[in-house]
Amino acid sequence: MPETLQLASPAPLTSLTEDEILFRDNVRQFAEDKIRPLVKEMDEKAVFDHALLERFFQLGLMGIEIPEQYGGAGGKFFEAILAVEEFSRVDASAGVIVDVQNTLVANAILRWANDDQKKRYLPRMAADTLGAYALSEAGSGSDAFALQTKAELKGHDFVLNGRKLWITNGKEAEIFVLFANANPEAGYRGITAFIVEKDTAGFSVGKKENKLGIRASSTTELILEDCAVPKENVLGEVGKGYKTSIETLNEGRIGIGAQMIGIARGALEASLAYTTERQQFGKSINEFQGVQFQLAEMATELEAARLMVYNAARMKDAGQSFVKEAAMAKLYSSRAAERITSKAIELYGGYGYVKDYPVEKYWRDSKIGAIYEGTSNMQLQTIAKLIIGGK
Ligand SMILES: Cc1cc2nc3c(=O)[nH]c(=O)nc-3n(C[C@H](O)[C@H](O)[C@H](O)COP(=O)(O)OP(=O)(O)OC[C@H]3O[C@@H](n4cnc5c(N)ncnc54)[C@H](O)[C@@H]3O)c2cc1C
Repeated sequence: MPETLQLASPAPLTSLTEDEILFRDNVRQFAEDKIRPLVKEMDEKAVFDHALLERFFQLGLMGIEIPEQYGGAGGKFFEAILAVEEFSRVDASAGVIVDVQNTLVANAILRWANDDQKKRYLPRMAADTLGAYALSEAGSGSDAFALQTKAELKGHDFVLNGRKLWITNGKEAEIFVLFANANPEAGYRGITAFIVEKDTAGFSVGKKENKLGIRASSTTELILEDCAVPKENVLGEVGKGYKTSIETLNEGRIGIGAQMIGIARGALEASLAYTTERQQFGKSINEFQGVQFQLAEMATELEAARLMVYNAARMKDAGQSFVKEAAMAKLYSSRAAERITSKAIELYGGYGYVKDYPVEKYWRDSKIGAIYEGTSNMQLQTIAKLIIGGK
């Protein structure tokens, strides 16, 4: 277990400061007391409990890195990672809601917004307003820069037309960091980031996906029909949205890694408890070496994934270059989560295969880690480019 950080540096990667331990323990307690009782129903109904979401704001978990002057918690990226991990241990949908708000939307605004935009949006995000990050489209996923949504400057506004797909938090979000091309002739150099408010005329939320996992997290289409967004809502520079999107997602990937290690830990803890309780051949099944070795494999893989995720997060907070480590952490932790949750089902036997027990959900929830914020192939591409380029 992590110890209090006493040394300057370097320290073991799993060391936490006293503040971090306190933060983690509070988040864990909240997840156990308030989220766990709702998980099954939220998954079945594919709806996130609105009152629970309000509690996330009250606890300061929706503006972890937002400075105190804007009403945020003024914390570090690492705390956001701890929150996503702890929530995902209980419910990966809760984990991704917190993840998108902190590591993508608030992060993009903190990094790229001007002072006026920060004053307008950060206090709302810290207090009660959910954000979403809208890059993907039906025809552009891995090839994100092929996006077809257009932004045409007309007078004081950019008029947006197009459709976004797969947008996490789409149903509940009120502000969207949304990417459109303001100069298609310039290719990706026309891509521009906008802050779009839900009540803008011409903006609507389309179909909600019926998913395999993270079912309580909404994933929706967004429709833009002559949606006039004021020039003041351009985030960063016109034509530099490609940079905003890449750099935000580089950081966001560490958050997905945290979601994956949370899921894997939830499944491992459930397996440890179940294999103690379950009796076959007159003894607990965890007395069989075959079962013990599977638990040991699961714990070892989780430890490796956790070290990678924590290291990437610490590197980001230290201002070091972390792109390769973030891609590796997401790639490895999503694979580890899939393997660990799959083994958990087997350790539960038939009970693992039914919805009365928690492990089939962990497995379903783990699958998304290999897909969003860049598929596993895209992570491999990034890692390969960086190692072959000597970085
Ligand atoms: C539940 C969910 C939530 C999401 N949330 C968001 C969100 O909030 N915001 C957002 O913008 N997007 C979101 N996405 C979209 C997600 O990021 C994309 O689905 C993902 O990037 C993959 O794109 P795609 O689905 O178009 O697959 P494709 O890009 O069509 O990929 C299909 C397959 O081809 C492979 N492939 C593609 N190109 C290459 C290549 N050059 N080399 C090797 N292999 C390749 C991929 O690895 C994959 O295996 C979400 C998706 C899901 C399912």
